[in-house]
Amino acid sequence: MAEKLREYERKRDPKRTPEPFTSKRKGTTKEPIFVVQRHDARRLHYDFRLERNGALASWAVPKGIPLEPGTRALAVHVEDHPMEYATFQGQIPAGEYGAGKVEIWDAGTYETLHERPDGSLTVRLDGERLRGTWALAPAHLGGDPKNWLLIRKREDDGRVWSDERYQPMLATLGKDPPAGQAWRHEVKWDGFRTLARLRGGEPTLWSRRDQDLGERFAAVARRLPRAVGTPD
Ligand code: MN
Repeated sequence: MAEKLREYERKRDPKRTPEPFTSKRKGTTKEPIFVVQRHDARRLHYDFRLERNGALASWAVPKGIPLEPGTRALAVHVEDHPMEYATFQGQIPAGEYGAGKVEIWDAGTYETLHERPDGSLTVRLDGERLRGTWALAPAHLGGDPKNWLLIRKREDDGRVWSDERYQPMLATLGKDPPAGQAWRHEVKWDGFRTLARLRGGEPTLWSRRDQDLGERFAAVARRLPRAVGTPD
Protein backbone atom coordinates (compact mmCIF):
# COMPACT_ATOMS: atom_id res chain seq x y z
CA MET A 1 0.00 0.00 0.00
CA ALA A 2 2.93 2.35 0.64
CA GLU A 3 3.65 1.90 -3.04
CA LYS A 4 0.09 2.85 -3.94
CA LEU A 5 0.21 6.11 -2.00
CA ARG A 6 3.61 7.24 -3.24
CA GLU A 7 2.17 9.65 -5.78
CA TYR A 8 -0.21 11.09 -3.19
CA GLU A 9 2.71 11.73 -0.85
CA ARG A 10 4.95 13.08 -3.57
CA LYS A 11 2.43 15.81 -4.39
CA ARG A 12 1.91 16.99 -0.83
CA ASP A 13 3.98 18.32 2.06
CA PRO A 14 2.61 17.26 5.48
CA LYS A 15 4.02 20.46 6.98
CA ARG A 16 2.02 22.63 4.62
CA THR A 17 -1.36 20.99 4.15
CA PRO A 18 -3.88 19.73 6.72
CA GLU A 19 -4.63 16.69 4.53
CA PRO A 20 -4.11 13.30 6.21
CA PHE A 21 -0.94 11.29 5.68
CA THR A 22 -0.66 8.30 7.98
CA SER A 23 -2.48 5.23 6.85
CA LYS A 24 -2.91 3.08 9.89
CA ARG A 25 -6.40 2.12 9.00
CA LYS A 26 -6.53 -0.85 6.71
CA GLY A 27 -9.45 -1.63 4.50
CA THR A 28 -12.46 -2.66 6.44
CA THR A 29 -13.70 -6.21 6.30
CA LYS A 30 -17.22 -4.81 6.42
CA GLU A 31 -18.85 -3.13 3.47
CA PRO A 32 -16.43 -0.86 1.65
CA ILE A 33 -17.02 2.87 1.83
CA PHE A 34 -17.30 5.66 -0.71
CA VAL A 35 -17.05 9.41 -0.36
CA VAL A 36 -17.69 12.38 -2.65
CA GLN A 37 -15.87 15.58 -1.76
CA ARG A 38 -16.78 18.96 -3.21
CA HIS A 39 -13.45 20.58 -3.95
CA ASP A 40 -13.52 24.29 -4.65
CA ALA A 41 -10.04 24.41 -6.15
CA ARG A 42 -8.84 26.46 -9.11
CA ARG A 43 -11.62 24.63 -10.87
CA LEU A 44 -14.63 23.53 -8.89
CA HIS A 45 -14.99 19.75 -9.08
CA TYR A 46 -16.21 16.73 -7.17
CA ASP A 47 -13.83 13.97 -6.05
CA PHE A 48 -15.35 10.51 -6.13
CA ARG A 49 -13.51 7.92 -4.02
CA LEU A 50 -14.09 4.21 -3.53
CA GLU A 51 -12.38 2.05 -0.94
CA ARG A 52 -10.31 -0.48 -2.87
CA ASN A 53 -7.60 -2.71 -1.38
CA GLY A 54 -6.94 -0.55 1.65
CA ALA A 55 -6.82 2.82 -0.11
CA LEU A 56 -9.25 5.19 -1.82
CA ALA A 57 -9.32 4.82 -5.60
CA SER A 58 -10.10 8.35 -6.79
CA TRP A 59 -11.61 10.24 -9.72
CA ALA A 60 -12.08 13.99 -10.17
CA VAL A 61 -15.49 14.69 -11.71
CA PRO A 62 -15.62 18.27 -13.08
CA LYS A 63 -19.40 18.39 -13.50
CA GLY A 64 -20.36 16.39 -10.45
CA ILE A 65 -21.80 12.91 -10.09
CA PRO A 66 -24.45 12.37 -12.79
CA LEU A 67 -27.83 11.85 -11.15
CA GLU A 68 -30.23 11.43 -14.01
CA PRO A 69 -30.45 7.78 -15.14
CA GLY A 70 -28.69 7.30 -18.46
CA THR A 71 -26.46 10.35 -18.13
CA ARG A 72 -22.69 10.30 -17.92
CA ALA A 73 -19.82 12.52 -16.87
CA LEU A 74 -16.10 12.72 -17.42
CA ALA A 75 -14.23 11.27 -14.42
CA VAL A 76 -10.49 11.87 -14.39
CA HIS A 77 -8.66 9.05 -12.66
CA VAL A 78 -6.24 10.47 -10.11
CA GLU A 79 -3.82 9.00 -7.58
CA ASP A 80 -5.04 6.75 -4.76
CA HIS A 81 -5.70 8.57 -1.50
CA PRO A 82 -5.18 7.18 2.02
CA MET A 83 -8.26 5.79 3.78
CA GLU A 84 -8.16 8.70 6.26
CA TYR A 85 -9.01 11.06 3.43
CA ALA A 86 -12.60 9.80 3.53
CA THR A 87 -13.34 12.03 6.53
CA PHE A 88 -11.19 14.99 5.50
CA GLN A 89 -12.78 18.41 5.12
CA GLY A 90 -10.96 21.69 5.30
CA GLN A 91 -8.91 24.27 3.54
CA ILE A 92 -5.83 23.32 1.54
CA PRO A 93 -3.62 26.42 1.76
CA ALA A 94 -2.95 28.66 -1.21
CA GLY A 95 0.07 27.56 -3.18
CA GLU A 96 -0.28 23.89 -2.20
CA TYR A 97 -1.42 21.08 -4.46
CA GLY A 98 -5.23 21.28 -4.80
CA ALA A 99 -5.42 24.59 -2.90
CA GLY A 100 -9.01 25.36 -1.92
CA LYS A 101 -11.86 24.19 0.24
CA VAL A 102 -12.77 20.52 0.57
CA GLU A 103 -16.22 19.55 1.87
CA ILE A 104 -17.81 16.13 2.18
CA TRP A 105 -20.75 16.18 -0.22
CA ASP A 106 -21.82 12.59 0.38
CA ALA A 107 -20.53 9.42 2.00
CA GLY A 108 -21.73 5.89 2.59
CA THR A 109 -21.04 2.30 1.68
CA TYR A 110 -21.12 0.52 -1.64
CA GLU A 111 -21.36 -2.88 -3.20
CA THR A 112 -19.52 -4.01 -6.33
CA LEU A 113 -21.97 -5.51 -8.82
CA HIS A 114 -19.56 -6.17 -11.70
CA GLU A 115 -15.89 -5.80 -12.35
CA ARG A 116 -14.22 -6.35 -15.72
CA PRO A 117 -10.59 -7.11 -16.56
CA ASP A 118 -10.25 -3.65 -18.16
CA GLY A 119 -11.01 -2.06 -14.79
CA SER A 120 -14.66 -1.22 -15.45
CA LEU A 121 -16.72 -1.26 -12.31
CA THR A 122 -20.41 -1.25 -11.61
CA VAL A 123 -21.28 -0.27 -8.06
CA ARG A 124 -24.39 0.25 -6.01
CA LEU A 125 -23.97 3.25 -3.74
CA ASP A 126 -25.77 3.60 -0.46
CA GLY A 127 -25.24 7.15 0.73
CA GLU A 128 -27.35 10.06 1.86
CA ARG A 129 -27.65 11.71 -1.54
CA LEU A 130 -26.43 8.97 -3.81
CA ARG A 131 -28.45 5.78 -3.85
CA GLY A 132 -28.46 3.51 -6.85
CA THR A 133 -26.18 2.11 -9.50
CA TRP A 134 -23.28 3.79 -11.26
CA ALA A 135 -20.69 2.40 -13.67
CA LEU A 136 -17.10 3.56 -14.05
CA ALA A 137 -15.47 2.81 -17.37
CA PRO A 138 -11.94 3.53 -18.62
CA ALA A 139 -13.19 5.21 -21.79
CA HIS A 140 -9.84 6.78 -22.80
CA LEU A 141 -11.65 9.97 -23.83
CA GLY A 142 -9.46 12.06 -26.09
CA GLY A 143 -6.98 9.18 -26.07
CA ASP A 144 -6.04 9.80 -22.43
CA PRO A 145 -6.18 6.68 -20.21
CA LYS A 146 -6.93 8.95 -17.22
CA ASN A 147 -10.24 10.03 -18.78
CA TRP A 148 -12.88 7.64 -17.52
CA LEU A 149 -16.65 7.88 -17.73
CA LEU A 150 -18.98 7.80 -14.74
CA ILE A 151 -22.42 6.64 -15.83
CA ARG A 152 -25.68 6.73 -13.90
CA LYS A 153 -27.44 3.46 -14.65
CA ARG A 154 -31.16 3.13 -15.05
CA GLU A 155 -32.90 1.55 -12.10
CA ASP A 156 -35.86 -0.74 -12.29
CA ASP A 157 -37.44 0.78 -9.25
CA GLY A 158 -39.97 2.89 -11.12
CA ARG A 159 -38.56 6.21 -9.93
CA VAL A 160 -39.17 9.02 -12.34
CA TRP A 161 -36.73 11.84 -12.89
CA SER A 162 -38.69 15.07 -12.66
CA ASP A 163 -37.87 17.74 -15.17
CA GLU A 164 -40.70 19.95 -14.10
CA ARG A 165 -40.16 23.65 -14.58
CA TYR A 166 -41.70 25.77 -11.90
CA GLN A 167 -42.56 29.34 -12.72
CA PRO A 168 -41.22 32.24 -10.70
CA MET A 169 -43.94 33.46 -8.34
CA LEU A 170 -45.72 36.64 -9.13
CA ALA A 171 -45.94 39.10 -6.27
CA THR A 172 -49.50 39.92 -5.29
CA LEU A 173 -50.79 42.83 -3.33
CA GLY A 174 -51.64 42.17 0.31
CA LYS A 175 -52.53 44.20 3.36
CA ASP A 176 -50.30 42.48 5.91
CA PRO A 177 -47.38 40.11 5.58
CA PRO A 178 -48.26 36.56 6.59
CA ALA A 179 -47.20 35.67 10.14
CA GLY A 180 -45.10 32.75 11.34
CA GLN A 181 -41.58 31.36 11.24
CA ALA A 182 -42.11 29.57 7.94
CA TRP A 183 -42.17 32.83 5.99
CA ARG A 184 -39.37 34.93 4.70
CA HIS A 185 -39.94 38.47 3.59
CA GLU A 186 -38.24 40.43 0.91
CA VAL A 187 -38.73 43.78 -0.72
CA LYS A 188 -40.29 43.57 -4.13
CA TRP A 189 -37.82 45.33 -6.36
CA ASP A 190 -38.58 46.10 -9.92
CA GLY A 191 -36.85 43.86 -12.42
CA PHE A 192 -36.90 40.26 -13.58
CA ARG A 193 -38.12 37.33 -11.57
CA THR A 194 -36.22 34.20 -12.49
CA LEU A 195 -35.62 30.66 -11.31
CA ALA A 196 -32.38 28.85 -11.91
CA ARG A 197 -31.55 25.17 -12.20
CA LEU A 198 -28.18 23.49 -12.12
CA ARG A 199 -27.88 20.22 -13.99
CA GLY A 200 -24.46 18.63 -14.12
CA GLY A 201 -23.03 21.96 -13.03
CA GLU A 202 -24.65 23.74 -16.00
CA PRO A 203 -26.95 26.61 -15.08
CA THR A 204 -30.26 27.46 -16.72
CA LEU A 205 -32.22 30.61 -15.89
CA TRP A 206 -35.78 31.21 -17.01
CA SER A 207 -38.41 33.86 -16.64
CA ARG A 208 -42.08 33.67 -15.80
CA ARG A 209 -42.83 33.53 -19.50
CA ASP A 210 -40.25 30.77 -19.94
CA GLN A 211 -37.73 33.04 -21.63
CA ASP A 212 -34.14 31.92 -21.28
CA LEU A 213 -32.35 34.52 -19.17
CA GLY A 214 -28.98 32.77 -19.03
CA GLU A 215 -27.40 35.01 -21.62
CA ARG A 216 -28.89 38.24 -20.42
CA PHE A 217 -27.69 37.54 -16.85
CA ALA A 218 -24.57 35.63 -17.77
CA ALA A 219 -22.67 36.87 -14.70
CA VAL A 220 -25.33 35.37 -12.43
CA ALA A 221 -25.41 32.13 -14.39
CA ARG A 222 -21.63 31.83 -14.27
CA ARG A 223 -21.49 32.16 -10.51
CA LEU A 224 -24.23 29.65 -9.72
CA PRO A 225 -22.14 26.45 -9.72
CA ARG A 226 -19.87 27.91 -7.02
CA ALA A 227 -22.69 29.60 -5.09
CA VAL A 228 -24.77 26.43 -4.80
CA GLY A 229 -23.25 23.54 -2.86
CA THR A 230 -24.22 20.87 -5.35
CA PRO A 231 -23.99 20.36 -9.13
CA ASP A 232 -27.65 19.36 -9.53
MN1 MN B 1 -9.78 17.34 -5.94
